[in-house]
Amino acid sequence: MTRADCKACRHFKTAPYQARIDGCFHPDHMKVTQKDAYLSEQETPGNHRVINRRGNCEQFEAMAQKRSLLSRIFSD
Ligand code: SF4
Repeated sequence: MTRADCKACRHFKTAPYQARIDGCFHPDHMKVTQKDAYLSEQETPGNHRVINRRGNCEQFEAMAQKRSLLSRIFSD
């Protein structure tokens, strides 16, 4: 089985641009969640180092690959 790498997971966000603090934003792992988007500053993610300590997190989902500039220009 391949190792789950939080840095390559779509549920991982980093401060300061994506989130207030680094962590896992998978709904099953978050410490504090908010329903309303305007309260997202108060959300507290789970500690990815603890959750994925063994590198076998079952909620790992690889980030979507970004399409290249050329493929975006020549699409449609
Ligand atoms: S703990 Fe699991 S779900 Fe959370 S960021 Fe890491 S691999 Fe993804």
